[in-house]
Amino acid sequence: MERKPFHFTASGYVVHKRRVLLILHTKLRKWLPPGGHMLTDGAGRFIESPEEAAKREIAEETGFDVEIHASKYPSLDPNHEMLAVPESMHIHRIDEEHDHFGFDYFCLMKAERPNSEPEEKCRWFSEKELETCAPNENLPIPEDVRALALKAIRLLND
Ligand SMILES: [Zn+2]
Repeated sequence: MERKPFHFTASGYVVHKRRVLLILHTKLRKWLPPGGHMLTDGAGRFIESPEEAAKREIAEETGFDVEIHASKYPSLDPNHEMLAVPESMHIHRIDEEHDHFGFDYFCLMKAERPNSEPEEKCRWFSEKELETCAPNENLPIPEDVRALALKAIRLLND
């Protein structure tokens, strides 16, 4: 794949009761994990970590507060903040000008009910639904999303 300039993005596969939460991306007409761009300041410097971006985007898009389920190495230096190890990282082609470099996390909900109104259309998918087929062929689940969603359910079997 040709290397292009990229934006950093972060997203999360939220698991609850053996289901995973996906949102219908209205522009792309696909089911995707909630997520989006990492915020920058006016000078283009990042002002949040990938895990902070994933948690913020999930809260905005789904209304749920979540925690990241990931390994994290201990911090041995007060000036050194260790970050959650992402479950996967990917580069996704967006357009002729840029790609997205994405950090993917597995997440658990902090509370049963959403804290605010979701911005997007959300739906919980069971293992069986993910294995068999998308709920609607016009609104597919991309193969890499399906594989990670299934892995999330199996790993975070609560
Ligand atoms: Zn972008």
